[in-house]
Order: sequence, then structure tokens, then C-alpha cells
Amino acid sequence: MGQKMLIGGEWVEASSAATVPVTSPFDGATIDTVPQGGREDARAAVDAAREAFDRGPWPRMPPRARGEVYLKAAALIQSRIAPLAELESRNQGKTIKQAQDADLPFSVDNLIFYAGAGRLLDAKSPGEFTGDGTTIFRREPVGVVASITPWNYPFMMAVWKIGPALITGNTVVLKPASWTPLTTLELGRAFDEAGLPKGALNVVTGPGGEVGDELSRHPKVDMVSLTGDTATGKKIMEAASGTVKRTQLELGGKAPFVVFEDADLAAAVEGAIVAGYVNGGQDCTAATRLIVHRNVRGKFVKRLLERVAAIRVGDPLQRTTDLGPLVHTTQQRRVLEFVEKGKDEGAQLLAGGTDERAKQLTGAFVAPTVFDAVTPDMTIAQREVFGPVLDVLEFETFDQALEIANGVEYGLAGSVWTNDLRTAVKAANALRFGDVWVNDHLPLGSETPHGGMKQSGFGKDLGADSLYDYTTVKNIYIDLTGQARKAWHYTTYGDPA
Ligand code: NAD
Repeated sequence: MGQKMLIGGEWVEASSAATVPVTSPFDGATIDTVPQGGREDARAAVDAAREAFDRGPWPRMPPRARGEVYLKAAALIQSRIAPLAELESRNQGKTIKQAQDADLPFSVDNLIFYAGAGRLLDAKSPGEFTGDGTTIFRREPVGVVASITPWNYPFMMAVWKIGPALITGNTVVLKPASWTPLTTLELGRAFDEAGLPKGALNVVTGPGGEVGDELSRHPKVDMVSLTGDTATGKKIMEAASGTVKRTQLELGGKAPFVVFEDADLAAAVEGAIVAGYVNGGQDCTAATRLIVHRNVRGKFVKRLLERVAAIRVGDPLQRTTDLGPLVHTTQQRRVLEFVEKGKDEGAQLLAGGTDERAKQLTGAFVAPTVFDAVTPDMTIAQREVFGPVLDVLEFETFDQALEIANGVEYGLAGSVWTNDLRTAVKAANALRFGDVWVNDHLPLGSETPHGGMKQSGFGKDLGADSLYDYTTVKNIYIDLTGQARKAWHYTTYGDPA
């Protein structure tokens, strides 16, 4: 009991010595305590990261050597998957099977990918573009990066943020979400033990409004990268504008899941259950809007309800549990308020909509919920609920389906379900979302760029594209004429030779 945070290679308490308990959303038990960092701690971490960037070895190491540190950290995490998954499950409420069989192994693979991808970074070939000199394009790190992460996939989102940032030679201050800091500290520990130079990665726990805000404003920070709510992204853009920092924002989503008349309905229903309730619906790509052709909606909904009834809700540490509690009772209340709003606005509640207390579960539970007869203008069809709530909407024509699908402020992810190739391609092309799946919903690989359009933000996590977000191109010109007075100098001063 009693975690510390990582600043400048040292494990330290908050400068105020304040601590805060971290609790389980399943039974309310205190799992551990972490330092309650504040602005002063954020500034100390920025100083350490700045020093490590300006004078430390990390940005100057060859990509191969940086990759070796990644591979060591990945091996350490691999050897600790079971305890890390248990910690993630207890703290976040996600099921142990998801933490242990998906989030953690995928994070290890992400690091292994970056260890190699960092060695492939390219810039344009140099050339004599003016005729008189050679121009070299150097791809360089941006500098000190503040990485700010959410609570839904605490470990994995931290890996998605620091993965491309560190491998490209930046130094990082990582701030986890206040409810879920524990596995992020363990990520810092793995990199520390793997031999990352002091100050290259700093982990500061504390509230977003203080630590996150300080990082977003600090003049010595060059870039802020957030995965979080759209409202937080807007605040960070504003704070970062004071010193013209680069920002990279992975924000909210409201994914459409479009089921055409000819779709394989059994596959679509399985996909909807899995992609709708993944991580308790606390997933930015979760399939929350099931937009179903009117001729198959009845059959689809009937089958969906049969499958929903079989979802096993309970203790997230049991491997037989499909749906654990939400991350916090505050989030539970928020989701139940959306449910009430849905009912008030005339959507038809077909399943769930309760906090499961009736079933003797005392944690932050919300039962798997299905609303039918949802119309595009309803609050639950527009706003990100971030809980286990599926909305069924109906369409008749292709154009109507696309209009409903695109008719939200978000643009992160979506899917189309059809056996007709032309429909699939036309719909996938027309969807204004950064990830589009056909006859599936969710799969991502370490190699696949993931990121949004519209108010879901910009920039990419994962894939080689993410490396470009964290680097900048410098152009270096070398004169080859050796002449004191160049042919073009007269355009400023004197006459042509
Ligand atoms: P959040 O925006 O409340 O918090 C995210 C992080 O920002 C936390 O670390 C928080 O402490 C910090 N923060 C809060 N206020 C801040 C401020 N003023 N300045 C700087 N930092 C601040 O988000 P959340 O509730 O933790 O996570 C859920 C959200 O994350 C959802 O909207 C979800 O869609 C989004 N998300 C997006 C992606 C993606 O890839 N696009 C992935 C996962 C989650």
C-alpha cells in the first residue's frame, strides 16, 4: 500500500505529501493509495523531461538502442501479465478475461511493434533542389510530450500514447486518469527497470484540472497528446494555444453499426453484443447506434434480446463474467441519467435500464440495456453515453442509413453489415469515421492507424502513421558552390554578375 510516482528517474511522493485512495468499483474496497500530485509536481516532471530531452542520452540514442529498451520493457510486462490484468480488472471493473487475454497482450505487441517501427522512420531523399546546394530532410522528435490518458483502458491507452512518443526520441510526462492510475505506474516501472534513461518517462498522478492543465500550458512542453472526452480536448487545445503547442487528440465517439437488409443477421447480432457492450460500453469505438433496415429490424431485435438475456453480469475477476461494474459510481449515475433521458424522450426500453441492485450487486453496475424506436435527434442517439446501452434506429433507403450514421458530431469508428460488395464499399467510403469495419466491429492491430474525424479529434494512435504525429521535419541546406557571391544575391543587393 502506498504508491509513488516517477519523476526524473526517482520514485517520489507528491510535494504536498498528499495521497488519495484508489478504489474498486465492484466492492468499494481501497486497493492502494497514490500521490495526489499538483501543479508543482507537474512542473518538476516537465523540468526532468526537458533536461532529458535537451541534454540526456535518450533522443541521441540510435533507434536500435531505443528499440532494445522497448523489447526489455515488453518482456517484463509479458512476464507480469497475470498480476497486471488482475490489478486492471480490480481498479477499472473490466472483466479479467478482457484484461488478461486482450488489453495486456495487445499492449505488449504494441511495444514490440514500435521497437521495430521506430527503425523504419523515413524522410524524403535528399536532393539538389536549387541546383546550388543539397537539402537534407531530417525527421526529428517534437520535444517534451505531455501524454494524458483516460480511465477506460488505463494500461493500453498509456501504451498507445507513449509507444510512438518515446520511440521517436521525445521525452514524456504521462498523466493517468485519477480513478485508474495503478497500472500506469506499473508501466513506468517496467520502462524504468528496462533501463530507460532518467527523466525520459515521468508519470505524475493527480487531477486533470491541475496536473493536466499545468502540462497543457507549460512553456517547456512542446506537445500535448490526449485520449479523453471531446470537452477535455477543447480545453486542452485552448490551454495549449498560449504557447502554440502541437496537439494530438483522440476523443469521444458515437459509432454507427449499419445493418442492411441482406446482412447475415446472426453475425450482426453477435457483432452488436460484443461491440456494444465491450468494456461495459466504456469504449470510444463501441457500437452504440444499431441502425437497422426496417424489413429486418423485428428479427434483429428479437435475436438481440435473446442474446442480451444470456450476458453474465458480476464479479469482474471471475472468468465467467461477461460484464463487470462500470469504472465508478459517478459514471454509473451518469449512464442511468442518460437512460432516464431516453425514456423521457420516447425511446422504448426493452432490456436493462437499472443499476442491477435488484440482483444483489452493490457495485457500480448498470444492466445491459437496449432501447428500441430511437430516433436520430434523441439525446441517447447524439451524446456519448459510455455505458452498456444500445440504441436501435431504423432506416429504409441507403441514403437515409448514411445520413443517420453520419449525423453526429463524432467521427471515430463505425461498421456496415451486408453481403453485397457494392453496398459495402459505397457505405464504407461514405462514412465520415476514421475506422470503418465491414461485417465486423472493433478489430485493430498494432499496424493499423486508429483515430478520428470531426469532433472525435485528429492524429493517429497505433500504426506507423502515429510516428509522424510525434516527429517534425527539419530541412537542412548545404551550399555546394563555395562562392562568396551567389548568382541570386543581386535580388536583395547589387546587380547581377
Ligand atoms: P476525460 O476527458 O474526463 O479524462 C481524460 C484525461 O484528461 C484524464 O487523465 C483527466 O484527468 C484529464 N483531464 C481532465 N480535465 C483536464 C484538463 N482541463 N486539462 C488537461 N487534462 C485534463 O475522459 P475519461 O472520462 O477519462 O475517458 C473517457 C473518454 O475518453 C470518452 O470520451 C472516450 O470516448 C474517450 N476515449 C477516446 C479514445 C479514442 O481513441 N478516440 C479512446 C479511449 C477513450
